[in-house]
Amino acid sequence: MSDDDKGGPKGPGYPDPEEFRKTLEGMFGKMGKGGFTIPGMSDSPFGQEAESDEVDVVEPEVDDIFQFDLLPRDIKAHLDRFVIRQDEAKKALAIAVCDHYNHVKALKSHDEEGERLELQKQNVMVVGPTGVGKTYLVKHIAELIGVPFVKADATKFSETGYVGGDVDDLVRELVSKANGDVSLAEYGIIYIDEVDKLASSGGAGMIGRDVSGRGVQTTLLKLMEETEVPLRNPQDMRGQMMAMMDMKKGESQKDSINTRHILFIVSGAFSGLEKIVRKRSQAAQIGFSAEQAEPAMDGELFKHVTTQDYIDFGFEAEFIGRIPVRVVCEHLEAPDLEAILKYSEGSLLRQYEREFEAYGIEVKFMDSGIRRIAEMAAGEKTGARGLMTVGEKILRDFKYELPGTSVTELTVDDDLIDNREKHLEGYRELGQELVVEKARQEVDAFIREFKDKHGVVIKLSDDAVSRLVKMAGEQARSVFQVARQHFRDYQFGLKLIQKNTGQGEFVLTDSSVEDPDKFLSELVVQSYRDQKDR
Ligand code: ADP
Repeated sequence: MSDDDKGGPKGPGYPDPEEFRKTLEGMFGKMGKGGFTIPGMSDSPFGQEAESDEVDVVEPEVDDIFQFDLLPRDIKAHLDRFVIRQDEAKKALAIAVCDHYNHVKALKSHDEEGERLELQKQNVMVVGPTGVGKTYLVKHIAELIGVPFVKADATKFSETGYVGGDVDDLVRELVSKANGDVSLAEYGIIYIDEVDKLASSGGAGMIGRDVSGRGVQTTLLKLMEETEVPLRNPQDMRGQMMAMMDMKKGESQKDSINTRHILFIVSGAFSGLEKIVRKRSQAAQIGFSAEQAEPAMDGELFKHVTTQDYIDFGFEAEFIGRIPVRVVCEHLEAPDLEAILKYSEGSLLRQYEREFEAYGIEVKFMDSGIRRIAEMAAGEKTGARGLMTVGEKILRDFKYELPGTSVTELTVDDDLIDNREKHLEGYRELGQELVVEKARQEVDAFIREFKDKHGVVIKLSDDAVSRLVKMAGEQARSVFQVARQHFRDYQFGLKLIQKNTGQGEFVLTDSSVEDPDKFLSELVVQSYRDQKDR
């Protein structure tokens, strides 16, 4: 270990790593090969929220960013593969992202020449209801460019910090998403949802949260401008441990992360903003008739939103001023949801197909079924999220009952969706028929084998077959295997009977499966009696 490694960043507020390690060992006594594990401690300081939107492991390197050569149209084309509609948002985001990373690239080359370029960051505000693709857009952009991406929810912030951590943790989370690569994290994307909840009630008497929202805006403002965030939170034990591990591995060179080039994308539903715009528009006589009582925020109305409207909504002018790119994501109607299922590469239908395939069942979604799912999902009023709720509800019983039966195909059309119970019953019966048919084939194979091996002809009654099917199910074995095992010494008894009576064929009934020895011995005894009687 070099001196550097041992020392690490030990400035004020950082305990000596070795001392810290010992303290923790003492506290937890759990130092495994891979380092400490603290039960119940989530990997992410943002809990579920950040985890659920996790982007796949980021492999790219920071140098890739300096090679950035995508055009806005390339980004839009990529987004078109996954995201349906939201064309304006796609364009605005594509342009903002290209501008941002082109600046970064230019800055790098100018830096090398010893110059500095002015950079006005293109932070973005996406206004739109829930479930219409806001996060999905940002996630795919980050994946395409190869930068780490963190999502958080503004409602979890408080003025003094983030619940479970503090605001700076957002930035640190980027580092962990970049697999510890601080340089790469410095070019990452932070996405903050529900930012409208930070509007203070001080504005135009709007629904805003409270004064603390204003404080959070100020804290975020600092991040959006430029600040150095220490890589480890002195209060955060886990961060300290990670730092220690990094130091051991010799990975930690920097002790802070600069936020200058981090791109911020914020979003929210901003319900109420449309009223402000409309009121002002009417006052200024620029359109919007009085009949439009409750206009939803759409592309048309959004064109009229001004910075002042956001301020009236309850935002600090400085905060909103740091977010120059503003765009709307529109409501998704049933036909849009249908298009998502049919054409998005991330369609849930592919997921359902894979899930059923794992049980050897091919699920087919007919157009009428897709339309019905979309109509029902639109009724949920949660955008494309409704598709998941509805899809799960419709398929749950089928997913439970069909695996393990011999049904190999499921056709989802509108009739199946409207009459689920009837179809389920149909599949149950079909499953049963198929099971019996398959069992019959296996029993026939067993009978053939018995005859070939022992020269004795046997038959099995329907009852006997049903019982074998049941046992096979319970033992998770094939009917053939169960029959073989069950009647394994039958040839001796049957041959004896044949000798006594000359009987050429034997029918094995239900009781032969229930108690094979008893059944056979009774047959044998009977054959001796018959022989005597003759
Ligand atoms: P929000 O707008 O609340 O951020 P998300 O982007 O998280 O919503 O959407 C939730 C899920 O719904 C996404 O993961 C995606 O599968 C699907 N989805 C939402 N909007 C669209 C869209 N416009 N096109 C395709 N899929 C979408």
